[in-house]
Amino acid sequence: MRVYVVGNITVDENWAIADIPTKGSSVHGNKVSQDIGGKGANQAILLSRCGIDTTLIAAIGHDVNGQWITKKMRDETLRVLPAALFSGNSDTSLIFNCADGDNAIITTTTAADSLSLETLTQALKDAVPGDVMLMQGNFTFDKTRSLFQLAKSRGMTTVFNPSPVKPEFALLWPWVDIAVLNQLEAEELQPVGVKNLVITQGAKGATLATQTDQAFCPAVAAQAVDTTGAGDTFLAVMLASSLLRGTGIDPLSLAHASQAAAITVGRPGTYSAFPVAAELKSLLKRTT
Ligand code: ATP
Repeated sequence: MRVYVVGNITVDENWAIADIPTKGSSVHGNKVSQDIGGKGANQAILLSRCGIDTTLIAAIGHDVNGQWITKKMRDETLRVLPAALFSGNSDTSLIFNCADGDNAIITTTTAADSLSLETLTQALKDAVPGDVMLMQGNFTFDKTRSLFQLAKSRGMTTVFNPSPVKPEFALLWPWVDIAVLNQLEAEELQPVGVKNLVITQGAKGATLATQTDQAFCPAVAAQAVDTTGAGDTFLAVMLASSLLRGTGIDPLSLAHASQAAAITVGRPGTYSAFPVAAELKSLLKRTT
């Protein structure tokens, strides 16, 4: 069984600035850090660190950032497709953190948008019934729907984390087996009829509704340093926990996910905050 994460991979640059510059002005700033980012990459990396056979389908550009991403991915155990690089730049997020705690983010999606349905379909050619396709909200509605339809026609299990949210995503529930949304996304997209529905509620916890289980899993208390990536950690570890035990999404998979997300929120950064394979292996052994 393999998980195909069809999404994006970015370079996230964190900058410290005094304040957001006004139009026409020039300000000093410091580049504080550079990390791997993108919801697709985050979730794929965490799944593979849990021991899941994972393929990330995401575009890497033909630039210095693309070389850096390729080198960083060699430290992980996942496979990245397509093998061919996108002829333009890799996707990048510039995160400007102001002295007052506010921030402003500029994100490109050119590389992710460059992946045609044909290329994505080709990257999924080895998928067999029982494999899993996990998507986020990175692609257009039409491309996202076509991929879910393709996955269902191949007998795959489909997982949808519709972030960033687009209103039309509310039409996709008939093709989704497992939906994971935060509270705001759930209010906007009203997931109805999904067999496995997980709604995360930040520091409060998360709820699960399946045909057999209704459960609330409180968050694990943590000294929150930076909550970015909590949702990606939660989703990946919840899915990995159920796949490794051969169960559906159950209360134990949410408990494992909450323990992993608490590790992520207790550390600065996103990729650099994620639990490592040894931490995940140990927490996935817990029975409560
Ligand atoms: P993000 O987009 O910031 O990655 P999200 O909005 O998708 O996150 P959240 O609902 O904020 O997802 O968080 C997912 C899970 O992470 C929660 O259900 C909870 O288990 C855990 N979590 C989030 N914030 C905290 C916190 N402050 N302390 C402990 N656990 C947390």
